[in-house]
Amino acid sequence: MAYAPAMTMLDRRKFLGGTAAVAGALALPGMRTGLALPGLTPAEILTDPFTLGVSSGDPLPGSVILWTRLAIDPINGGGMGVDDIPVQWQVATDDTFATVVASGTANATADAGHSVHVDATGLAADTIYRYRFQVGTWTSPVGTTRTTPPAGSSPSSLRFGFASCQNFTNGYYAAHRHLAAEDIDVLFFLGDFIYESGGSGVRAHTGGECLTLTDYRNRYALYMSDADLRSSRAAFPWIVVWDDHEVDNDYADDAHDGGDPPETFLARRAAAYQAYYEHMPLRIDPPDGADLVVYRSVEIGTLATMFVLDTRQYRDDQACKAEEIGGTASPLCDEATSPDRTILGTEQREWLTAGLTSNTARWNILANQVVFSKLPILGELFNMDQWDGYSADRDIVLEAMSAAAAPTIVVTGDIHLAGAATVRQDFADKSSTPLGVEFVGTSISSSFGEELYPFVDAIAAEVPWIEYVNPRSRGYCVVTLTPDEARADYRIVASITEPTSTISTDRSFTVAHDDPRLVEA
Ligand code: FE
Ligand code: CA
Repeated sequence: MAYAPAMTMLDRRKFLGGTAAVAGALALPGMRTGLALPGLTPAEILTDPFTLGVSSGDPLPGSVILWTRLAIDPINGGGMGVDDIPVQWQVATDDTFATVVASGTANATADAGHSVHVDATGLAADTIYRYRFQVGTWTSPVGTTRTTPPAGSSPSSLRFGFASCQNFTNGYYAAHRHLAAEDIDVLFFLGDFIYESGGSGVRAHTGGECLTLTDYRNRYALYMSDADLRSSRAAFPWIVVWDDHEVDNDYADDAHDGGDPPETFLARRAAAYQAYYEHMPLRIDPPDGADLVVYRSVEIGTLATMFVLDTRQYRDDQACKAEEIGGTASPLCDEATSPDRTILGTEQREWLTAGLTSNTARWNILANQVVFSKLPILGELFNMDQWDGYSADRDIVLEAMSAAAAPTIVVTGDIHLAGAATVRQDFADKSSTPLGVEFVGTSISSSFGEELYPFVDAIAAEVPWIEYVNPRSRGYCVVTLTPDEARADYRIVASITEPTSTISTDRSFTVAHDDPRLVEA
């Protein structure tokens, strides 16, 4: 917890302890008969309000966050009216809830889209639990969660998954169906949980481009209409962070990629951050306008300290945007390598470097969005949206990795391809000491342009420190961590055009704690 400024306790008054009497007392006389937006009591909820499922997240040794959001009309604003609604919750050690070990009432507030974030405390460490919610005559699906090992204990292993990028229009979530069945302790979701644009493909985005809070709420609800996504959300605790598409493609702090003025874009960012908070099992304070501190750390006894990074909210705008090339591809210009640029922001960078160098656990894990390793994408061109466009910050983090006692594993999303590299202070110098590895997961469903396959294949062939690249497959990654070794299994689905398509392992790599370079398993 020493490195975790964002892991404050929830404001319990805001989320817990509400009752029907309190909610009723706050309602104006005659509100229920008003024509505009009537309120609902639990008894007046006549269809299933648990359409978005359940989820849990940000586990600690003694507690976990439990999430749901009530919505009888999920992709049209939710349909739950203007009143707050009390929701009961239970945590049990068995499937039938014969042995309930924690329970209470949470307030699903209209202001928070009738979402619920419960901090279920008083739990035993390193233990699997079932949980569920009830309102009126309705009971939610049952979720499974797990607390982390006791502080200071020495776990013999941890299995975690990581995934990202699930454009609904590109295909089905066969990957989530298989992910839900994986024997993992926790899942990192590294961003692009939704995509903000309109449009259609294998499936359609309802509504146009998301701009307002209602737009973003409806988009999350559309994604959660997928039963495979709901099943993996309910299967284990998630530790989530965003990338760009939870707000808008390639945004940087208050800089909108399409040129909206900062004040216009920040209003949109506030709506998007609010909707993100409402739909995720987060152990953080709610957003303050357009600001939401989401970077935080998680400790797994003496096995690992995991740093969850936010490389969007505090970054400088992408460097050297070249009109003639388009997008964020560019040769390395002076701006990209300027020491004044940042991708993390000063506070987060200082928090991270202090955390890396003071960590006494066996491993450092960075849950990260955009590719960390040096990656020439075509000849002299680099992607200025990645850490390559912020090399001063990367150098500082590499120095901290070098000074740290523990090797570092960076897990990354964003680019819709699978890849792996050994991380060194000078990536090109194979004689320099390996500091750890980067595993880039592919996407759950977001596509990678087929026309670019030859260029990606050339990277694999020509860039010596990039040891694996696969742009052709969708899926996720499972990492098995022990005190002495990390192993990554790249799991890929046969197709995203069939929700029931099969899963297989594409490649596997190991990393030894005492010589942390990538080795094919
Ligand atoms: Fe993406
Ligand atoms: Ca992205």
